[in-house]
Amino acid sequence: MIGRGLFLFSQTKTTTTKTTIPRNISFSSQTISKQNPSYGGFSSPENHFISLIHASKTTHHLKQIHTQIILQNLNQRSHVISQLISSCSPFKSMDYALSIFHNFHNPNAFIFNALIRALSDNTQFESSISHFVLMFRLNVRPDRLTFPFVLKSAASLLTVKLGRALHSGIAKLGLELDSFIRISLVDMYVKFGLLDYSLQLFDETPERNKCANVLLWNVLINGFCRAGDMDTASELFEAMPERNVASWNSLLNGFLRKGDLESARVFFDRMPEKNVVSWTTMIAGFSQNGDNKRALDTFYMMLEEGVRPNDYTVVSALSACARIGALDAGIRIHEYVLSNRFRINRQIGTALVDMYAKCGKIECAKRVFSEIKEKDLLTWSVMILGLAIHGCCEEALRLFDDMKSTGIVPDEVVFLAILTACSHSGLVDQGLCFFNSMRFDYLIEPNVKHYTCIVDLFGRAGQLEEALKFIERMPIEPDFVIWGALFCACSSHKNIQMAEFASERLLQLEPKHPGSYVFLSNIYAGAKRWEDVERVRIAMKDRQIEKPQGWSFIEVGGQIHSFLAGDHSHPRREEIYRKLEELKVRSRAEGYMPDIGWVLHNIEEEEKEDALGSHSEKLALAFGLIGTPSGTAIRIVKNLRICRDCHSMMKCASKISGREIVLRDIKRFHHFRDGACTCGDYW
Ligand code: ZN
Ligand code: ZN
Repeated sequence: MIGRGLFLFSQTKTTTTKTTIPRNISFSSQTISKQNPSYGGFSSPENHFISLIHASKTTHHLKQIHTQIILQNLNQRSHVISQLISSCSPFKSMDYALSIFHNFHNPNAFIFNALIRALSDNTQFESSISHFVLMFRLNVRPDRLTFPFVLKSAASLLTVKLGRALHSGIAKLGLELDSFIRISLVDMYVKFGLLDYSLQLFDETPERNKCANVLLWNVLINGFCRAGDMDTASELFEAMPERNVASWNSLLNGFLRKGDLESARVFFDRMPEKNVVSWTTMIAGFSQNGDNKRALDTFYMMLEEGVRPNDYTVVSALSACARIGALDAGIRIHEYVLSNRFRINRQIGTALVDMYAKCGKIECAKRVFSEIKEKDLLTWSVMILGLAIHGCCEEALRLFDDMKSTGIVPDEVVFLAILTACSHSGLVDQGLCFFNSMRFDYLIEPNVKHYTCIVDLFGRAGQLEEALKFIERMPIEPDFVIWGALFCACSSHKNIQMAEFASERLLQLEPKHPGSYVFLSNIYAGAKRWEDVERVRIAMKDRQIEKPQGWSFIEVGGQIHSFLAGDHSHPRREEIYRKLEELKVRSRAEGYMPDIGWVLHNIEEEEKEDALGSHSEKLALAFGLIGTPSGTAIRIVKNLRICRDCHSMMKCASKISGREIVLRDIKRFHHFRDGACTCGDYW
């Protein structure tokens, strides 16, 4: 009935008419005409309008109802108008809510409460507080429903002084013990970081042990979890008279935020009831702490238990796939999303683009991207960065222009993606142009990542002197990553002298960082200065510094398999090493020569070849060749930069096997096809 009425409403376009009811609205002329007040079974016209307001689906509907309310002379009835203001909130139409408010003469607490709440819910905290002040000025007495939202606004703005003033105002009005207000007060002090104070307030709450006060406990526990004080949080949790699933979720989240995966897992198993939030917390927590394999296992477990994921669960699972390049798992999740009628909204769409781009399927990423209707800056940035790491520079730049033409103003993240695109394609002049445009057209102060990108840009193009000059002129102190970028460029272009210089800077900055030693070792090994290599090795040993461990992932048969260098733990290790041996022999026939410059230690030539021979990406490749049907692409993810030797072996392997090999290292994608790589041997 209500729905039909709204449908008729939406057919008219003459809602601005103030004096006459348009004839073509059959609803208004039949059911709310003064001569025949039948209101569709509602006791009064006010109630009838309130029902219509609650059933509204858009601001447009609300405006039509508002017109009718004015026509019926009900626009000064506070309980109708307060509902109208509240209903603007889910549509985020705060300008409209304010205009309704300003057209109401002598607003009472009803009207003010509706507006203050709507503004606070729409994160317009300052406006929410200024209307509270206006309430005072107009001598309208606030009540127990006013304060929770004003307190929330003060908490969000972190205005401690105002918060305290509100607290004393509440005490003066005798509302301090109201349970709703009490929760808001404790929550506000928690957000201010004044945990002792919120604990004191909690202890002074006479009815805190009543079961109905579980929310109060949760707010406090959540505060301690956020502050990382898990001991106090756990103590409070154990002392609770009754817990609900939100109490459990708070503590679970606390363990995961601290990176304590083991406690989180034990706690998760202990939970008497798990809802979608519990599962999602666990999935996102595993993924953010680097255990993406377990994140995905947990996601599948959740589906088996019959719990329907929400958008955030799907996004978390997809980003776990993106992080480890698990394409099959990503595709399965995409299919799940489609067959379970999830809407491909901005969040899920962006996560899908990111997943496909980082799993090496740039074409799929582009397809999903083109289907997203409501793209925001993040969506564009993810797509542009995806194109950049795949070496599709021209497309990335074109997309950047498209984005600007939709009126979206670029930020530092999307500029970083653009600079990355230029750097991967050796477009020095264009890159510098973008860098200047960012600074002078958009007034974005470059951060250390942008500077690194420019050093990379010069470095990759072999303009090492320019890179060094740029570092010396930078307004910020060059850090480890910047010198590292220069070092990599020097080592690619075999400028040993400058590499040594960069390497010394690296060691000065981070004497404990294993990377510095590896860098230094690499140049000495390249120059066959074995005594120096040995010196570095001893220095590392003396300072108890270990080489960073390289690992590679490959997905075979829906399972993620990970390999370390020289790994012998895989159940099919014998076949893997046999395949690798065969590959080496055949590659050599194709002209592959092991590049022993990359081996760290001064060992015999043959041993050096062995050390190279079992790099994690080579093991993953051999396993991919035996574990997947011939003709299919092999996809490998490596946590460090691929070494030159593995790179040349991958090229040969792609030719010998007739397969496409897609390898993602920490910097970019390498697509090996028929003996060549898309990076043009430049990374
Ligand atoms: Zn290697
Ligand atoms: Zn490559």
